[in-house]
Amino acid sequence: MKIVLCASEVVPFAKTGGLADVAGALPLALEELGEEIIIVMPGYKAVHNVHQCPSVHSLKEGISYSIIGKNIRVYFIENDNYFNRDGLYGDKNGDYKDNLDRFSYYSKRVLELLKEINFKPDIIHCHDWQSALIPVYLKTLYKKNLFYKNTKTILTIHNIGYQGLFPREEFPKLDLDWSLFNMEMLEFYGKINSLKGGIVFSDIINTVSPTYSKEIQTKEFGFGMEGILNRRKNNVFGILNGLDYSIWNPETDKFIAKNFSSLKLEDKYANKKDLQKICKLPSKLDVPLFGIVSRLAEQKGFDILGGAIETICKMNLQLVILGTGDLKYHLLLEEIVKKYPKIISLYLKFDDSLAHKIYAGSDIFLMPSKYEPCGLGQMISLRYATIPLVFKTGGLADTVSQDNGFVFDNYRKEDLIKTIEKAIQAFKNKNKWLKLMHKSIGYNFSWKESAKKYLQLYAKAKAQ
Ligand code: ADP
Repeated sequence: MKIVLCASEVVPFAKTGGLADVAGALPLALEELGEEIIIVMPGYKAVHNVHQCPSVHSLKEGISYSIIGKNIRVYFIENDNYFNRDGLYGDKNGDYKDNLDRFSYYSKRVLELLKEINFKPDIIHCHDWQSALIPVYLKTLYKKNLFYKNTKTILTIHNIGYQGLFPREEFPKLDLDWSLFNMEMLEFYGKINSLKGGIVFSDIINTVSPTYSKEIQTKEFGFGMEGILNRRKNNVFGILNGLDYSIWNPETDKFIAKNFSSLKLEDKYANKKDLQKICKLPSKLDVPLFGIVSRLAEQKGFDILGGAIETICKMNLQLVILGTGDLKYHLLLEEIVKKYPKIISLYLKFDDSLAHKIYAGSDIFLMPSKYEPCGLGQMISLRYATIPLVFKTGGLADTVSQDNGFVFDNYRKEDLIKTIEKAIQAFKNKNKWLKLMHKSIGYNFSWKESAKKYLQLYAKAKAQ
């Protein structure tokens, strides 16, 4: 199959979140499965960073390219005015004011580029609102274009909270007929909604976990898109993201004090000792060490965690938190650390090396997200035999169960506290705990499996 992946960020060229990981890893797995795939993304300043490997070459005016994997061409849409900036979507003053110009330009340019390089795709796989206009253009401006006669589109939603909303006055910039500005198509309460356009016009819609694909069809999780998604429910699917096991592997991880595997799980405890030392917590192996690596945001459960933290700090445990985010959580946690310095250790920063140490050295990984499209933290922690404790939602519900972790299903601080108590009790039974660790380290969320599922989805789109 000939596939084009369109995303506004792709590892290793530009990244602000999980979308870039998916957009960088899925094509590699598809190539391994023998598919012909190219990527098209904006040519941001970061892409041309001289330290960037792999190198970028000019193809022609306004288009450059690079290669990843064995032979995957990554095309960059160049436009100095739009993309030669430090940020991807905004700066310290907030979102760039011309984001609709930028990403509608990108979307239209993709469809011209494919013709210019004569890449006639079976599938155009778009991601999030920034490329969601591509299916709209394909089914309107390019409707009669024979080049795209057999092309189908898929839109993957990584987080439905981000929809690309713009004032209606900007609609003429899209070069679309005003008749499309209606409630059933691109309008959302008087504004332009780019993601909604993608949801309406793509052949298939999917999200990054099966449970999240159901949740976004409800009022609670849909951010206003539930109605339109419900109408397309026969074409809404969920595929779990994979994990990059070349980075997250306790057997080879360069950041951790001692490598370990399922064959020598006791070596994990050298990492616990190391983490306690780094975090200036008492060196005790019999006290369960909880770890958090997260954005400090309500989405990640910090509203109930904030309410529960005082009680938690009175329990027989230790807690390491690494994260940045909302100021109110920074302040709240700083206060609590002052009160319980022997129980809780706090790092308000982004630190990849410390993150690895926390995944490896903790006994339990705390991830009580209020909603979670997929989530990586729980998958990483399982690989390091660190038992996840999660709220039953989205990708967390699809990867963690009573079999490999601790799950609560009422989003309340009381339930969080009770589940932490349960984990502390379970930790006391060393044999059972060891069995749990063995089970957890054996889980495999590989990109290969996810890529096979995407191929099935592509085939489904082709058959429509
Ligand atoms: P998100 O919604 O933030 O994308 P995920 O669980 O999908 O949540 O992925 C978050 C990733 O970012 C994980 O790999 C996690 O380890 C990493 N991460 C989050 N915060 C930090 C931090 N402060 N320092 C280092 N890594 C972090």
